[in-house]
Amino acid sequence: MPQSKIGSRTVRMLQSLSTDGRFTVKKLSTLIDDMVLGPYSNQHGTLRNNLVPKKIEIFIWRVMLRRLAVKVELDKRGVDLHSVRCPICDNDLESVDHITFSCDRVKDVWVRIYKWWGVNGFMCSNITELISSKGPSSMTSVGESIWQALKWISLYLIWKNRNTVVFQGKSWNSPMILNEIQTKSFEWISWRSKGKKFDWLS
Ligand SMILES: [Zn+2]
Repeated sequence: MPQSKIGSRTVRMLQSLSTDGRFTVKKLSTLIDDMVLGPYSNQHGTLRNNLVPKKIEIFIWRVMLRRLAVKVELDKRGVDLHSVRCPICDNDLESVDHITFSCDRVKDVWVRIYKWWGVNGFMCSNITELISSKGPSSMTSVGESIWQALKWISLYLIWKNRNTVVFQGKSWNSPMILNEIQTKSFEWISWRSKGKKFDWLS
């Protein structure tokens, strides 16, 4: 029987797991990461950054594909909602771009993050612009990957805070969100930097 396309793909995947006849969890985990993050990475440059937890890489990929459970997307899928307005500002519809960038109160957090890093202004209105937006001009290549990691962690925590507004009724507090971003990003990035020294606040 001729091998089907899926069949031959599966065989190739299994072969790629091992060249020495041994299968390991690590190899399997790498393969799954490639399958999840690979298609987008190939199209839009890398979506990998080993300074952030895997869950954040996957979150960024979901934002790219607009796979966030914002009210406008839920409404499109027939979910009956009381309102599709932004839960933070109530001035616009809650779309992916609005809740991650355009909302004035979210933008206030971004401006504070950029200011913390000595970058004036914040001009991004979507994830693609965020990924390509420049950090401080004096950055080395190590600094560039820290800057990218910081932006991704910030977006992830902005979304987490949006969820606490929606599900726990908490109010939006930009200085406190910045504080959380500073603490968490330091914790995650420095832990993954494997002893590399970097000057966090410069
Ligand atoms: Zn808003």
